[in-house]
Amino acid sequence: HLYLRRIEQARHLNAYLEVFSEDALAQAAALDARIQKGERPGSLAGVVIGIKDVICYKGHEVTAASKILEGFTSLYSATAVERLIAEGAIIIGRLNCDEFAMGSTNENSAYGNVLNALDNTRVPGGSSGGSAVAVQAGLCQVSLGSDTGGSVRQPADFCGIVGLKPTYGRISRHGLIAYASSFDQIGIFGSNIADVALVLQVIAGPDAYDSTASQSKVPDYQASLPHNKNRRFAYLKDALHHEGLDTEMRGGYESFFEDLKAEGHTVEGVNFDYLDYVVAAYYVLTTAEASSNLSRFDGVKYGYRTPEKDLDLTDFYKKSRSEGFGKEVKRRILLGTFVLSAGYYDAYFTKAQQVRRLVVERMQKILGEYDAILLPTVPTTAFKIGEKMDDPIAMYLADIYTVLANLTGVPAISVPLHRHSNGMPYGIQIITKEFDEENLLQIAHSML
Ligand code: GLN
Repeated sequence: HLYLRRIEQARHLNAYLEVFSEDALAQAAALDARIQKGERPGSLAGVVIGIKDVICYKGHEVTAASKILEGFTSLYSATAVERLIAEGAIIIGRLNCDEFAMGSTNENSAYGNVLNALDNTRVPGGSSGGSAVAVQAGLCQVSLGSDTGGSVRQPADFCGIVGLKPTYGRISRHGLIAYASSFDQIGIFGSNIADVALVLQVIAGPDAYDSTASQSKVPDYQASLPHNKNRRFAYLKDALHHEGLDTEMRGGYESFFEDLKAEGHTVEGVNFDYLDYVVAAYYVLTTAEASSNLSRFDGVKYGYRTPEKDLDLTDFYKKSRSEGFGKEVKRRILLGTFVLSAGYYDAYFTKAQQVRRLVVERMQKILGEYDAILLPTVPTTAFKIGEKMDDPIAMYLADIYTVLANLTGVPAISVPLHRHSNGMPYGIQIITKEFDEENLLQIAHSML
């Protein structure tokens, strides 16, 4: 009831696309009954969780914030959602985002943009903007998002909360609407590390429905949180000195590194060299995968279809897709189709795959020598609403620090660090080697 009331009062933020009021109250009542009967209520008993509208929940609408899926009801629940419910969590609603998780500001939603609760003239970040604001404004305790190139860490940074992108394969993608399948990963928003660790504990692990979900054992994340030790940290010199990074923020990171050293940690700058190529490689590979993934939305199988009559099949597809998809999604389908086309495949797609391989090797080398990499999450604080909408390239370039973890599959987290003199928060991003969420969460815990 408390959360339902708060959501009602925060309608103007547009964080929720739908609130499952009756359902949530029924879940709460069922939980009470379980406890009355002396049954084990589960490790998430009564925890109120919102889910990004790209995650399926059986019997509920899911739209990916797109007109093309309007009115479509999930036939099954995502594995992550099933596991949350089995542990007693209450799924309170579905959260606004950029259409098909493509964007960095939540302005690409077919259902309106989301406001940053700290400053209503600014964006919350994206694509999981609703998920970030829901936690930021206390409209749920924890939320799920998806992170293909930073969509959990970037809005967490803009909203002053914690955002985790686990290792590729740590959480099953079954029931997550695909954007770029070799990059996508479900991520978790919370206001502290303990909450995030608890939810990860529940939803991580192998799944028969997703062959890319890892078989590796899920460690006890909460138990390891209090153990703090002296660490060896690397920061990427070219990242810290990048011209796009806000000067005041650069100073903030530098003094933070000095503080870490004073506490007994090692902090060393290393060369990375590929930073100028990562955004380009990311957008070539993800648009290629997206153009293939989104071909299933043809007006026949799901949601929206053109009302126009007497069309032949090809025109019916064309009309339905033209009317159903928004501008940014169309831009990416075209870009992806282009880089995959016969004449350009080697020049773009193959090249981008080669960059990906080089980046993976370099990251592995650095993570072999250090416990973690420290990096800004985003080069600036939250943009003003509308600021970047006419310049997609500028918007893409702001992903420079977040796409690294998705290109390489390693886990990464953004935790709030300082407040900028413009009043907005900014965070620090921590990256560890794959399937080392244990150390990642431990380090993040010690920094918060
Ligand atoms: N801003 C990035 C993009 O638009 C990230 C998206 C995401 O992680 N889903 O592709």
